[in-house]
Amino acid sequence: MSTTVSHEIRLKTLPEGLPKAADFELAAVEVPAPAEGAVVVRNIWMSVDPYMRGRMTNRASYVPPFKIGAALEGGAVGQVVASASPAFAVGDYAASMLGWREFAVAPAAAFQKIDKSLAPIQAFLGTLGMPGLTAWAGLFKVAEFKDGENVFVSAAAGAVGSVVCQLAKAHGAYVVGSAGSVEKCRWLEEVAGIDKAINYKTCGNLDAAVKAAFPKGIDVYFENVGGAHLEAALNSMNSFGRAALCGMIEQYNDTAPRPGPSNLILAVGKSLRLQGFIVTQYFDQLPNFLAETAGLIAAGKLKWQETVEHGIENAPKAFLKLFSGENAGKMLVKLGPDPAV
Ligand code: NDP
Repeated sequence: MSTTVSHEIRLKTLPEGLPKAADFELAAVEVPAPAEGAVVVRNIWMSVDPYMRGRMTNRASYVPPFKIGAALEGGAVGQVVASASPAFAVGDYAASMLGWREFAVAPAAAFQKIDKSLAPIQAFLGTLGMPGLTAWAGLFKVAEFKDGENVFVSAAAGAVGSVVCQLAKAHGAYVVGSAGSVEKCRWLEEVAGIDKAINYKTCGNLDAAVKAAFPKGIDVYFENVGGAHLEAALNSMNSFGRAALCGMIEQYNDTAPRPGPSNLILAVGKSLRLQGFIVTQYFDQLPNFLAETAGLIAAGKLKWQETVEHGIENAPKAFLKLFSGENAGKMLVKLGPDPAV
């Protein structure tokens, strides 16, 4: 009987600063037959996400660090190729946190069935998956956004930011997003339909650009970047404004602590609420999130972009693109051919 080999990416060393290709290694393992209650899934797509950088350190966090010498983990979708569980049949499509490898072998409970009729399966790693839920929960639950408010979104053309922008627009908001290229800004204004996009790399004074874009001030700031973006948002926020602190990617590769926002004192006088959150705290909201997003997709009001690297060996390269801004929308790795339907 022939054996199936799965290639996987392992963490070789903890990166110092911006990770480099040498921090990762490619390995090959044999795929075993599934034990009782387990399934084997051939991963077709895997996700790379900024939060994974936080797992490449020795710092205590809300998720444990990756182990040196072990395969990395992350979102993946694929198709069941062998099953010893009544929960899955061969041919079913499934999502898991067993990415960074070509084949995932685990108890059935590690996989969730996905409804292929809603959207292409890789959308369950983006708009219909963790990043989409992050956008929905951050906007509606954390920032308590109300219809028609003024919303500022940083990293607005990314997987999370682009969904925030369109959810807010669908609820009558005035939306301004910032992004790091002409093409991303054009997509935000012409396809996502936001009111104004700011290219933070070419606008000169970001604070002045944000002020000019918000003549009536910011009610909700969706924070993905940190640093100068947070300072600019604080300067333009209205009294009782809310900031959903989703991420601060500008700092993920820092090797030393940096000073906090110089104008945080504004939060006192303006009675601002700045609240961090982790998407896992909102997993119970998945049905509500899917109900809203499926409706918007069907109505053509929720669009997304994907940037794709091909082959497991290029997963580290895909991951690094998140920090250079080379991804437009969801950064994905295609691991193998689509199955014959
Ligand atoms: P994106 O698709 O937005 O990709 C990252 C983008 O960040 C890049 O394309 C780039 O866009 C921008 N960026 C990278 N480095 C910098 C920098 N130094 N300064 C400014 N912008 C930078 O990723 P996601 O949508 O997956 O994630 C967006 C944010 O949401 C991240 O901060 C992430 O950690 C956070 N997040 C938080 C979750 C939670 O539970 N709290 C869950 C999921 C994500 P550009 O070209 O515009 O600069």
